[in-house]
Amino acid sequence: MPVTFLSQLPSTLHRAFEGELAGMAPHERREQHRRQIRLLHVPVSNLLLAIALVGLARVLAQGAWGDYGLPMFSWQLAASAALTALALHFRHIVSLRRRLLSGAAFVTLLLTSLAEPGSHWQQMPVLSLAGFLLLPVAGLPLLVRPKVAFFALAACTLVAGVLVFWLAQIPVGERLAFSFHYLLSSTAGLVLRRARGNLAVHMQRQADTLWQRAVTDPLTGLLNRQGWMSVAETAMRDALDSGAQPAVLFIDVDHFKRINDNHGHQAGDQLLKELGAIINARMGPGDFCARLGGEEFTCLLPRSSPAQAQRLAERLATDYRNHAQRFSSTLSIGVATHGAGDLLNDLLARADAALYEAKHRGRDQVIVAR
Ligand code: GH3
Ligand code: MG
Ligand code: MG
Repeated sequence: MPVTFLSQLPSTLHRAFEGELAGMAPHERREQHRRQIRLLHVPVSNLLLAIALVGLARVLAQGAWGDYGLPMFSWQLAASAALTALALHFRHIVSLRRRLLSGAAFVTLLLTSLAEPGSHWQQMPVLSLAGFLLLPVAGLPLLVRPKVAFFALAACTLVAGVLVFWLAQIPVGERLAFSFHYLLSSTAGLVLRRARGNLAVHMQRQADTLWQRAVTDPLTGLLNRQGWMSVAETAMRDALDSGAQPAVLFIDVDHFKRINDNHGHQAGDQLLKELGAIINARMGPGDFCARLGGEEFTCLLPRSSPAQAQRLAERLATDYRNHAQRFSSTLSIGVATHGAGDLLNDLLARADAALYEAKHRGRDQVIVAR
């Protein structure tokens, strides 16, 4: 029993520390981390700026009413000004590595400027010590990566320990009170950090569900027009970049209105659903199919040769004809393959024209656009 407990301890701690993020696949977690870091960039910049401005105010007050000599005052003022400039600059850094470096520079300069020689810490006002010990509550929720949060907590705990138990000359009772205060503050920081992570994961899942609904045709489960447009443009660009030749199929059920008229709208719906499944079953992993509306479907085949695209269209037509024998229903399909300078809309327009020709020539056939 204790062995099982010990072997499960790391994952239990990880779950306690990370919440929902702990249960995610590594690539999903990395993506979630990146997203949250992007979102938290402004609040982190604001926290750094707030710390720098409080420091500046403290230096000015200490210079006016405290015991700073001119050299100490000058050094503290220069350090506070540099911290403020760094915090303002931080807001505009895009690269993660540079942010991390600037953050480390900020903390180092802050700690160096705080470590004043002389009597300052001995007489450190209670309020200012209490203020420092509140830092984990504000800081931990803003740190996304668990390692960064862990090291920040460790560093903060070390500094707090040195301040409370060594530098500040305060009675034992107050040392204990401050330790308790720090314990509360860091626990609250960790709890808030976990809650922030969980909230971000929930909101992301909700956004994914909404997006999924917005781009899916509810009847067939294929993409709808909007969803197809947004994925097909990218897929076509990628295909062209890698030297492949995309093709587009435009599929329309022949005389579909008659099926509705003779067998009812519900039977029509059922047939559309079955056509969706037939299309889905024939598609390769990189292909994108959609129901554009009514009884019209389209497919982008990013990496099919013209011959392959035509063969696929003919197989679809045969599958459907066999499947929909009870209604003697058939398909007309227009196929367009990529020519120099074609955009997605050009391909669609040519596939549509080919479909029109298939209808014109008597339906139940595949026409490849010239
Ligand atoms: P054609 O061979 O020229 O394509 O003839 P058609 O009857 O298939 O074409 P038309 O565009 O005249 O009619 C399409 C019909 O599709 C009209 C409409 O009632 C029906 N329809 C559109 N959306 C749906 C749907 O969601 N469910 C059902 N059951 N019918 C639909
Ligand atoms: Mg039709
Ligand atoms: Mg139609």
